[in-house]
Amino acid sequence: MAKKKIIVQKYGGTSVADPEKIKNVAKRVKECRDRGYDIVVVVSALGKTTDTLLRLAAEISGDPAERELDMLMSTGEQVSVALLAMALHELGEKAISFTGAQVGIMTDSSHTKARILDISTKRIREQFKKGRIVIVAGFQGTNLDQEITTLGRGGSDITAVALAKVLNAEVCEIYTDVKGVYTADPRMVRNARKLESISYDEMLEFASLGAQVMQARSIEVASKFNVPIHVRASFCGEQGTMICKEVKKMEDVLVRGVTVKKGEAKVTVCDVPDKPGEASRLFEYLAKAAINVDMIIQNVSRTGRTDISFTVPSSDLKRTQEVIKATNKKKTNAIEVKFDKDIAKLSIVGVGMRSHSGVAAKMFGALASEKINIDMISTSEIKISCVIKKKDAVGAVKALHRAFGLHKKK
Ligand code: ADP
Ligand code: ASP
Ligand code: MG
Repeated sequence: MAKKKIIVQKYGGTSVADPEKIKNVAKRVKECRDRGYDIVVVVSALGKTTDTLLRLAAEISGDPAERELDMLMSTGEQVSVALLAMALHELGEKAISFTGAQVGIMTDSSHTKARILDISTKRIREQFKKGRIVIVAGFQGTNLDQEITTLGRGGSDITAVALAKVLNAEVCEIYTDVKGVYTADPRMVRNARKLESISYDEMLEFASLGAQVMQARSIEVASKFNVPIHVRASFCGEQGTMICKEVKKMEDVLVRGVTVKKGEAKVTVCDVPDKPGEASRLFEYLAKAAINVDMIIQNVSRTGRTDISFTVPSSDLKRTQEVIKATNKKKTNAIEVKFDKDIAKLSIVGVGMRSHSGVAAKMFGALASEKINIDMISTSEIKISCVIKKKDAVGAVKALHRAFGLHKKK
């Protein structure tokens, strides 16, 4: 007998927010089953459950142990898998739910941001043989000491992509509350356009720079193993966006999309002596404290002293302040340190930028005509990012979307 084809489907929190929506998901899974597929369904916690759990933890402790945070957060997905299994039973389907640990998702021990090391497919394949739909709790795994771990916020995406890889699935379908990946967040830009396809490289930049629709790490895995992803709506049957290897036609498009990331802060260390070793000392201390430094700018010095600015995630700001204080004691000799939390990182992304000039000029021109000031700039082959004031973020996204004509079909 020929082996059945496999599909992995993932449903995000908003798609399973209440019993009606869970029943709707069960119907969609059944439709896919009726088309003859073996199916693994990955589900996130109901609605905003993970946020609620984190708020509860914060009410108990200002600094909860990460192991216990994982114990707590993983409960969210355990609720949704069981409810979806029941909904499928109601439709007369054979289905069984599993936690990450039960299904053999092995991770390292970095609680709250663990990396998947291996997935055993034995249990899933046994269930397929019994004719069952397999439902897996997203966002969680277990380490070698059988401790529960979680895979970073938005981590159900990586659970789905990794399962699609190990099962050699035909496609990994990501069902969400928008119809695909758009030229900008459709909640921010009314005439944002749904993309038919986007390359892994572009999606990785897009996601890392704020486009929440996919978790960035999941795209790294998909790209490494060439897992085709279809991002689509859980509320209608329309074709969504394919995330795949770059195809030739894609290069014609200069800018694929515009995105903005909040939740970062700018740090300026003023009047650092402009001599070899000063920057190295500062960033060495920050690296040792595992602080993820992003954009870095050093001013030209006229007086033998200079300013160094960089961005860090806002959640790391307190630790950054502590590290700089400690470095100062160890003779960084900086005179003043400034912190600014009211910033946003605005970016345009597109593989076509590799071979075109003038894109940066157009971006800066569009911002200038809106009187939006640029604080910092960084570029790579396929993206340009600017730090601007947080209050200007929405206006800036709209201005760039207009300036690059992203609403028009290319
Ligand atoms: P889920 O709960 O299904 O995982 P998320 O909230 O993580 O859903 O991601 C979907 C959200 O991502 C959308 O509601 C949308 O507001 C946001 N988003 C941001 N940028 C984009 C973009 N470029 N295209 C589509 N959605 C985007
Ligand atoms: N429930 C987790 C979160 O909110 C994982 C996910 O939704 O993908 O981050
Ligand atoms: Mg998500």
